[in-house]
Amino acid sequence: MPLEKYHAKRKFEKMPEPKGEILTKSQNRFVVQEHHATHLHYDFRLELDGVLKSWAVPKGPPEKIGEKKLAMQVEDHPVDYINFHGIIPEGSYGAGIVKIWDKGKFALLNRTASTVEFNLKGKRLTGRYTLVKVKNPKFKRNAWLLIKLRN
Ligand code: MN
Repeated sequence: MPLEKYHAKRKFEKMPEPKGEILTKSQNRFVVQEHHATHLHYDFRLELDGVLKSWAVPKGPPEKIGEKKLAMQVEDHPVDYINFHGIIPEGSYGAGIVKIWDKGKFALLNRTASTVEFNLKGKRLTGRYTLVKVKNPKFKRNAWLLIKLRN
């Protein structure tokens, strides 16, 4: 079930985060949320399949051509989450401050089970990017690389 993992981790009566629904129409938006949780990371989210496909990028998204950053796929988030910023209270899942680091639109260029290629049009992030699933068994199964490509 979509969003099942998202809902299972959260008690919404205590949370400022949206409960959300699955949407049928995509506006092809993306967001990067700077998340000051136990470890600072950047949540990179693409509006796909009626949800936000999500990756936690510990070192932040690449900004130079050829740069690769580890991106751990996390549970799908509701599309409503795209505007979320604020404080996730102490004791809740992901507790800490969330700020919108970048947002904008993307154009999907290609997608397979282990790759997503797209063009970003944000304020900080622009141009061609790909997400590639890491197949090396030394890495966790949710490990991907976010790579900035030549346009
Ligand atoms: Mn996060």
